[in-house]
Amino acid sequence: MYSKCFYCGATTIIPDVDFSDDGGPYRSPNHQVVVERNPTAFFKREPVFAQTRAYICGTCGYVALFVEAPGRLYAAYREAQQHLEKQQRQDEQLPRLIQVTASET
Ligand SMILES: [Zn+2]
Repeated sequence: MYSKCFYCGATTIIPDVDFSDDGGPYRSPNHQVVVERNPTAFFKREPVFAQTRAYICGTCGYVALFVEAPGRLYAAYREAQQHLEKQQRQDEQLPRLIQVTASET
């Protein structure tokens, strides 16, 4: 998948490395990213999680991150953009509604 360092071009790649925190014996190797499918919702934002994997250059130390199943995340991102655009349209209409109501009184 990733066999040549993006930074220095070396092929000394350590593949598929777990992340870890410094939690001692209870350390967690699972670090995820999350994209909410509906970030404008008050509840049920429908988060989509993906596990991260590191690929490390054994020459310069550059770390490249990849997620598993990126297509699921991208689909969630596209859905989130639609929700955000819809909310932006509603927000743009709100001042006009208030202005009309204020001028009628
Ligand atoms: Zn490198």
